[in-house]
Amino acid sequence: MNDCIFCKIAKGEIPCYKVYEDDKVLAFLDIAQDAFGHTVVIPKKHFANIFECDEETLSTCISAVKKISNHYVNHCGFEGVNISNNNGKAAGQTVHHIHFHIIPRKSGDGINIYNELAGDNTPLDKQLELLKLN
Ligand code: AMP
Ligand code: ZN
Repeated sequence: MNDCIFCKIAKGEIPCYKVYEDDKVLAFLDIAQDAFGHTVVIPKKHFANIFECDEETLSTCISAVKKISNHYVNHCGFEGVNISNNNGKAAGQTVHHIHFHIIPRKSGDGINIYNELAGDNTPLDKQLELLKLN
């Protein structure tokens, strides 16, 4: 994709703070600087989101997410990670090249990544009427 910022990073046309790279995947620090070590993991090939991305590429990305997460916990002094992935504008996706966020965590670091959830009292059986897959 010509005007995709993550494609440009993958091709080396825009610099990044590279954490990990292999032939299929690139991981770099998020410029938001909203949490120490906030990392973005992308496939080098462009797919907009999970709906478009093939399963092999998804699997490759998740393997890299696991490798990096293991590294953060085993070698960088963190105790856990939050992993997230936004798909579609309605879900808050702002860069439309599929990516996974990793936020390294320590006990008592004060980060609350769910603090925007307002709550929903719809009974779970009603929710299931809409959501059940089979
Ligand atoms: P999302 O809202 O899930 O689409 O996340 C997009 C993320 O990409 C945001 O957290 C941005 O801060 C990050 N981002 C945008 N441009 C860059 C860039 N040039 N280098 C690193 N991260 C970026
Ligand atoms: Zn792209």
